Amino acid sequence: MSGVLVVMEQRGGAWNRMSWETLAAGQQLAAQVGGTASAAVTGQGVDALAGELAKKKLDLVYAVDHDLLASYTADGYTAALEQLIRKANPTLVLFPHTYQVRDFAPKLATRFGQVLVSDAVGFRVESGSPVFVRQLFQGKLNADVRTGGAAPHFASIQAGAFRADQLQDGAATVENFQPSLDVATIRAKPLEPFRESARAVDLTAAEIIVSVGRGIKEKDNIPIVEELAKALGAELAASRPICDSGWLPMERQVGSSGQTVSPKVYMAVGISGAIQHLVGMKGAKTIVAINKDANAPIFEVADYGIVGDLFEVVPALVEEVKKAKS
Ligand SMILES: Cc1cc2nc3c(=O)[nH]c(=O)nc-3n(C[C@H](O)[C@H](O)[C@H](O)COP(=O)(O)OP(=O)(O)OC[C@H]3O[C@@H](n4cnc5c(N)ncnc54)[C@H](O)[C@@H]3O)c2cc1C
Repeated sequence: MSGVLVVMEQRGGAWNRMSWETLAAGQQLAAQVGGTASAAVTGQGVDALAGELAKKKLDLVYAVDHDLLASYTADGYTAALEQLIRKANPTLVLFPHTYQVRDFAPKLATRFGQVLVSDAVGFRVESGSPVFVRQLFQGKLNADVRTGGAAPHFASIQAGAFRADQLQDGAATVENFQPSLDVATIRAKPLEPFRESARAVDLTAAEIIVSVGRGIKEKDNIPIVEELAKALGAELAASRPICDSGWLPMERQVGSSGQTVSPKVYMAVGISGAIQHLVGMKGAKTIVAINKDANAPIFEVADYGIVGDLFEVVPALVEEVKKAKS
């Protein structure tokens, strides 16, 4: 294996933060196999973004620039990246597992007679080649996936699987790459991009988060965890069923269809640890789980675990925090 190419994602000049996690995965993989690591940014007028990328430890940065890439289309991105990959000739192409990547990356892989190893949570290197780990049955099983056939191979990396703060800095050369694109081959006509309404709560900026799940049983019990959040100076968050039931507002939901957070401390209270929740919080520096079921999957990602009834544990913790602060 010789070269890893990481395809970064940006929209309107702003990076998708999962790209940096994937870049960290790319650096680590290249280091383990002794190959090169390069990265590509795609769009129109991407010089500044490419310059930012060039400050990372990479062998080369490709600025893939074209007027027809100003807005994302699966046809445009596939054609442009196919041309880049044929020129750069990497052994492995890595993507962040975003909605956009899910849309075009399988099509791109097919152009090379390959498949996309999607949503990988890790890898190890065996005989110089990566073996990717994918989760099955809501994270209950891990499967090893080896790529087969001729390179290039393609894989996407799950949110939170690698840490962006482990990225290595460096100085890379930027190479401009202008693909040859024909407007007639781009079948989709992009409309105004969907904009989410402004969020009143920005969980992504919180240093401590206390998150509550279905273990809380009913809405009237929410103040129990609210007390803990208040005592710790934390933001209150929740798993999806809590927000779906209207017990807390949607903007406090953490997970694949909520916010992705990476606080210093994440306390999961009465949360089982379904994969859709984990992808939103496993980038936290320290995870504390309180659950009465010792086999709950949340304990697999937790740094500290309390097996117990939250209705006893949480008030006791509040007492201790108050004592420690007084
Ligand atoms: C497309 C899709 C997207 C999704 N997106 C999200 C998402 O963004 N975020 C998200 O969170 N989920 C999401 N989900 C739902 C997800 O699959 C789970 O159903 C959900 O995360 C479960 O929430 P929970 O852990 O609160 O509830 P449960 O799985 O019911 O777990 C409750 C936990 O509380 C524990 N418990 C019960 N009583 C007590 C007690 N007294 N003391 C201590 N512990 C107790 C139980 O042991 C259990 O582990 C999504 C699902 C799909 C299909």
